[in-house]
Amino acid sequence: MNDLPIGLQSATDVNAAMVLLVDDQTMIGEAVRRGLSSEGNIDFHFCSDPHQAIAQAMRIKPTVILQDLIMPGLDGLSLVKEFRAHPATQDIPIIVLSTKEDPQIKSAAFAAGANDYLVKLPDNIELVARIRYHSRSYQTLLQRDEAYRALRVSQQQLLETNLVLQRLMNSDGLTGLSNRRHFDEYLDLEWRRAIREQSQMSLLMIDVDYFKAFNDGYGHLEGDEALRVVARTIRESCNRPSDLPARYGGEEFALVLPGTSAGGARLIAEKLRRGVEGLQLKHEYAGGAPVLTVSIGVATQVPSQHSAARQLILAADKGLYFAKQNGRNQVALAEWKEPTVES
Ligand code: GH3
Ligand code: MG
Ligand code: MG
Repeated sequence: MNDLPIGLQSATDVNAAMVLLVDDQTMIGEAVRRGLSSEGNIDFHFCSDPHQAIAQAMRIKPTVILQDLIMPGLDGLSLVKEFRAHPATQDIPIIVLSTKEDPQIKSAAFAAGANDYLVKLPDNIELVARIRYHSRSYQTLLQRDEAYRALRVSQQQLLETNLVLQRLMNSDGLTGLSNRRHFDEYLDLEWRRAIREQSQMSLLMIDVDYFKAFNDGYGHLEGDEALRVVARTIRESCNRPSDLPARYGGEEFALVLPGTSAGGARLIAEKLRRGVEGLQLKHEYAGGAPVLTVSIGVATQVPSQHSAARQLILAADKGLYFAKQNGRNQVALAEWKEPTVES
């Protein structure tokens, strides 16, 4: 059996009721039991000790509580309040059974949290009708709460799944960096922000040197592993949350650096170049150093209105071309060809 009240254990028995009668008089208990005995689907429990009422309610999980108002040793209204204050019983409908029709007692009972008021012993038809009515509305309430809870859980799961999907959609399978699609989107977004704010924006294009020879010499799997290690080094060279490292394609990477000056970008590029060199990944087939290295092109612009982010890529690519031309394992700017005094 699960923990739910009977009405929630299967979809078919919402009409079933679990009644707990709290009354010090066994005679009343017997009378009510008799009255309900011919009713299908109504389970009856009797508690003659009001001090045990909460504990018994927690055990049997009634869908309706019938409660006497005058019992020795405990004020009936206090017990109603106790039921209302306890998390396990706070919503269970309470029908108080009073000895008389008294507006003052009635008003006090409702104020304490009772849902209904009957003078005992009530007519059996009326008692059954009220039990069924309150029991069913309580179970409807529980079902609604349960449905909301399930809805919240599935909404949360959906949200988490979407986040995972988003991450998968945006990331490169081999290196875990952003993929080309996300890079394009991000660069465009940041470019438009830079236009609005007239801020400078930098981009590094990073290409592994002599990588074809590396693959040919050590095999494609070793090549993959080398790309992963280079990617990690690129990720670690990012200082700000807005920096975005990406796999541009093949053995070429990009690093978007919003709000970063030419000087700042050059420093990052140089640190990254040295970082990869410092990995000391053996590359005996390289034309230059005996270790794996990268060449990096750097471009910085304050974008003018109506300009496109493609300009920045072209400029960084040009820098990369110069770095390759000049012997690889180095950082170059697009303006590299004009060795005038740097600003
Ligand atoms: P350069 O110094 O001029 O950049 O020379 P390179 O050999 O690095 O450049 P090239 O463009 O000739 O070769 C790139 C190589 O990168 C060829 C390709 O097999 C390899 N490559 C591209 N993507 C992957 C990959 O995902 N895994 C592996 N292992 N190799 C890749
Ligand atoms: Mg290369
Ligand atoms: Mg290449």
